Amino acid sequence: MALNLEESTSLIAKRARQLVSQLVEQRGHGRPPFLSEEYAPLLGIKRIEKADLGEISAILIKLRDGDVIRVNQDHNSARQNFSCAHEIGHALLSELNLELCVEEAEFRTFNPQAQAMAGARTRERLCDAAATELLMPEIVFNKYLLGLGVSISSIASLANIFRESISSTAILIAELSAEPCIALLWRLRPGTRSKALRLAWHVGPGKKLKGKADYMPVHTLARSTSTLYKAYQCDNPIKCHKLFRLDADVKRIPIESKGFGHGEVRYVISLAFPGR
Ligand SMILES: [Zn+2]
Repeated sequence: MALNLEESTSLIAKRARQLVSQLVEQRGHGRPPFLSEEYAPLLGIKRIEKADLGEISAILIKLRDGDVIRVNQDHNSARQNFSCAHEIGHALLSELNLELCVEEAEFRTFNPQAQAMAGARTRERLCDAAATELLMPEIVFNKYLLGLGVSISSIASLANIFRESISSTAILIAELSAEPCIALLWRLRPGTRSKALRLAWHVGPGKKLKGKADYMPVHTLARSTSTLYKAYQCDNPIKCHKLFRLDADVKRIPIESKGFGHGEVRYVISLAFPGR
């Protein structure tokens, strides 16, 4: 059986949603957070152990009498929760026999090594998709997003409610928002005297919006004199405008930005609203 990426993603997401329903029914409510340790027993995973794993986030170990997940004890609890859910994604992949299908369908090349690597990357993406659905089930997340509103100030609350990282929460907002929304992440540009923020990634507007357009920020550097840079320096939400390219056009779009984290790991998240 050969499946393309879209088919595989929808299969694993569907299985993840079944697990969510099973958990909600079992505990009698659908309120977040959704934790990996609640899902583990539903798949015969005996326990989750915290361990010294060095660079590795988590591993799924197959034992004769049931599986065990080991998770990196040095990571924060939101990251541990996601890493374990990702490993649960691996358990789902093997349960659905998707591992080989992915490799065969998507990556027919003459270079077997490249094919194996591309297959591995795809499997990781599928596990991330499963983890997102398990921990931030779309229906539940949407309900809370509607309640709080699509705004830069809602990110921290939603991340807290779902025990998720700030960046995964921002990505999901951009993907699920009914109003077109783009999430951007900026980090300090390293190694130069003139301080500036550099765009690390941008996501959105959401997959579900009909006729979705691809907005590209015109400037991927925000200098220390810019309004956006103020979000790096203080903790308040900062509003400004940025230029985005859409096909041949350039549009001035309102964006809201906020700084998160401290010291070397500090970053700025922006939400841009092309419809406003
Ligand atoms: Zn993995």
